[in-house]
Amino acid sequence: MTDDTIFGKIIRREIPADIVHEDEHLIAFRDIAPQAPVHVLFVPKTPVATLNDLQSSQADIIGRLALAAAKYARQQGFAEDGYRIVMNCNEHGGQTVFQIHMHLLAGAPLGRFGT
Ligand code: C5P
Repeated sequence: MTDDTIFGKIIRREIPADIVHEDEHLIAFRDIAPQAPVHVLFVPKTPVATLNDLQSSQADIIGRLALAAAKYARQQGFAEDGYRIVMNCNEHGGQTVFQIHMHLLAGAPLGRFGT
């Protein structure tokens, strides 16, 4: 079902997480080290290490993550104020967990990104 990253362990309930949504395709939980008042990770259950490894036949994985993040924003009432979604890839992108995931950051005006 999923790989052996820490996110795989969360999906298999081998380690705890503050889960806010789960369906057959993905899981969403609060980031353990939040970088904004709202910081939720959306993780597919299909193992894909980095965005570089995503196949064209797997485009629906990213679509589902984005739609789930937008739905969560609407449900939580901050969609209109706005939010940011981020996917980090490899060293220069700051990726630390090698199962693709989408960060949802919200709850305050966010600074510009960059270095
Ligand atoms: O994009 P990146 O790979 O750096 O993101 C991984 C994220 O997973 C980090 O923001 C980290 O705080 C989070 N994390 C978590 N729970 C864990 C381990 C990591 O929320 N048990």
